[in-house]
Amino acid sequence: MKIRKLPDYVINKISAGEVINNPADVIKELIENSIDANSSEIIIQVKGKGLSFIKIKDDGEGIEKEDLLNITKKNWTSKLSRFEDLFNLKTFGFRGEALHSISSVSRMIIRSSIDGFEGYEAKFESGNLIDFKNCYCNKGTTIIVKDLFFNVPIRRNFLSSSKTEMKKIKNVILNYVLAFERITFKLSLSNKHLVFEKANNRDERIKTIFGEFQKRVLRTSDFSVELYILEKNTENRIFVNLRPVVDNKISQILSSLNYIIFINVNPKDVDINVHPKKLEVKFSKNINIYNELRKFISENKDIKIKPKYIQISNQSNIENKPKFITTISKNSILIIHRERALRKIYFQKLLSKQYKTQMLTFPYTFKIKLPDESLKILKVYGFSVMVKENEIIINGIPDIIESLNYEDMELILKSLDNKKHIFEVEAFLNGILNVAVKYSKLSDDEIILKLLSLKNPNFDHNNRRIIYEIDLNEIENKF
Ligand code: ADP
Ligand code: MG
Repeated sequence: MKIRKLPDYVINKISAGEVINNPADVIKELIENSIDANSSEIIIQVKGKGLSFIKIKDDGEGIEKEDLLNITKKNWTSKLSRFEDLFNLKTFGFRGEALHSISSVSRMIIRSSIDGFEGYEAKFESGNLIDFKNCYCNKGTTIIVKDLFFNVPIRRNFLSSSKTEMKKIKNVILNYVLAFERITFKLSLSNKHLVFEKANNRDERIKTIFGEFQKRVLRTSDFSVELYILEKNTENRIFVNLRPVVDNKISQILSSLNYIIFINVNPKDVDINVHPKKLEVKFSKNINIYNELRKFISENKDIKIKPKYIQISNQSNIENKPKFITTISKNSILIIHRERALRKIYFQKLLSKQYKTQMLTFPYTFKIKLPDESLKILKVYGFSVMVKENEIIINGIPDIIESLNYEDMELILKSLDNKKHIFEVEAFLNGILNVAVKYSKLSDDEIILKLLSLKNPNFDHNNRRIIYEIDLNEIENKF
């Protein structure tokens, strides 16, 4: 068979896949560009799990008219001009690949102005410029990516469920929110709104997101490390020169902790060009980060907090489980009403205050005002709450709830709406129980064990039956 060169448009679609596999990858590249442009505010809007619509608006340096015309050409970049620059990188980008790749698999609009007076809008489809005109726009750049992968339908088929894609998106955004505390981030993800105001320092931002932490700092002549050990269980995160990366050796060294680690090294001592998405880095042989870190952890024995496993998933369990659990004891068969059993177990935990606060990866913001007494009730029952003008931000929940979504939390808050007194909590407790039961991950065996260890396991607090017991002799007689 004869060989021949692939047409450019085919090459572009294939190679886009190295950098852009899913909507979260698009968002990552666009945020990085906004940060590279020295923005102080980044607004991110996502609709339809990121496939139909992504918009990122920044107030950064903007793009010049000429550059806008060439911006989707492969390897066109303003950030690197000499080979040596590669070893002194201060920007996220340097290969001029992202906009090229994104535009070749979507319909993209860029609006930009370098001064806030003159601005231009360029429209691209499958990487081709299809429209260019003047526009009124503020200083900075807005990029809209529509119909992602419309021309590579097979890529769409490789995407996970919308929940998983949304989770990836949130996770990516959170990386930059954590590393760039001086930037205000405003998010609107499937119509849920969230603002991270510019913080004075990193500690402050981490606290608003994750709550309490312990911090350890290590400085050597070659590098510095800021290690945040979190009380809540979240994804561990590693940053090298503020770039989120994956590093198995570091993960292994820190495996007993819930952590966020920021490592800073001289740019000449780290190669970030070893992975197409720049997810992995390679440290130079001159610096011995791994050994130093290992030593540091073993010397600081006190920081070894044992992690507790919490998984925030949005899957409701109870609905797809059988209504009854059966088990055989020595003389009888027990038939247990699953939902009532779970309610009883969690109710008991609530009453005896057997819960801790677990922080949410992504806080939920509500535009409501609650009386002080209600806020107090929330805190007493293990919620972590922040109040801002007309908003309430919930960033932690009691750990008897394994998971919850925005609507679940909204229902719980509504149950508190008019409550002015700490004793008026029945509807509120019920709300918590509903969610705890809905997402419970207790196995049948655990339910049986926990239920039978309670006082009076046979009935719930409304005197409804939980366990029905059949004597084995009675069954014997039936045969
Ligand atoms: P790279 O970031 O590797 O240079 P990209 O394809 O991501 O490549 O971007 C190409 C160029 O477009 C950048 O070098 C930069 O000059 C310009 N650019 C992209 N996004 C922005 C933005 N939000 N603000 C200002 N300039 C931008
Ligand atoms: Mg870039």
